[in-house]
Amino acid sequence: MSSLSSFLEQYWWATLLTIAFVVWAWRASRRAKQLASAPAFVARRDPNSTAPFRRADFTVKAEAVRREMVKGFGIGLGIYIVASPASLALVALAPSLLPRSFATTVQMILLAVVIVLGLAYAYRGSRQGRRMGLLCPGCGGELVGTMGDGPWIQDLVLETGKCPTCHIQLLDPGEVGPVPRKLSRGDHVRGVAWIAALLGGIAATAYFGNAAIRGRRSVNCNRRYAAAQNAADSAVVDARVLGTRATVTCGEMRRSGQLRR
Ligand SMILES: [Zn+2]
Repeated sequence: MSSLSSFLEQYWWATLLTIAFVVWAWRASRRAKQLASAPAFVARRDPNSTAPFRRADFTVKAEAVRREMVKGFGIGLGIYIVASPASLALVALAPSLLPRSFATTVQMILLAVVIVLGLAYAYRGSRQGRRMGLLCPGCGGELVGTMGDGPWIQDLVLETGKCPTCHIQLLDPGEVGPVPRKLSRGDHVRGVAWIAALLGGIAATAYFGNAAIRGRRSVNCNRRYAAAQNAADSAVVDARVLGTRATVTCGEMRRSGQLRR
């Protein structure tokens, strides 16, 4: 338990991000299930309809824009999954060469990369949507993107035929219906690959994170033992407690052979 609590203490950001990723994956899978369970539906547009959008055309364009919007987050996540444990592995390999703040600095940079990529692609997608004319003629609002509370605007448009903001009619009532999308084999493969990559990243972060903590402690204890002048000094180092809440001492690490030279 003490190794878990010291790990959480040192790598709280990794823990927070892991929780965020799990929530995101859970929501994505819930949405995929909802879409997959939507009943078959045939859109029939009244030939005299004056509705500004046609369902088939709107669906294709909105999906292209959605993919662009989420791409940056996907790329950022991919970089993060690899680079985060790699930075901890470097600390574990060379704990005395790297500055104490190395892992945290790398994390902050990676976090910034994920946010910047996410925002940049969200902006590109939004610009693409405006260029394609996916704007509400009533309120001027974008018709692709997420509402504050989660659902995608374009799904709401297809399911209700109305703008979720100003409620004007955007689709012919005959074209209003559930979002039908069967998950393809490729969707399943991608989903499983993402989950495997996330779990692998979490496992690698835990493994190298603990190795990095052990490496740092080893350097810390070795420095103190090297400075000890006599047996009494060594005994003081033996009793030295490592970490703020952990109960491991230099003596315990020395006796269990965890001190590297
Ligand atoms: Zn509107």
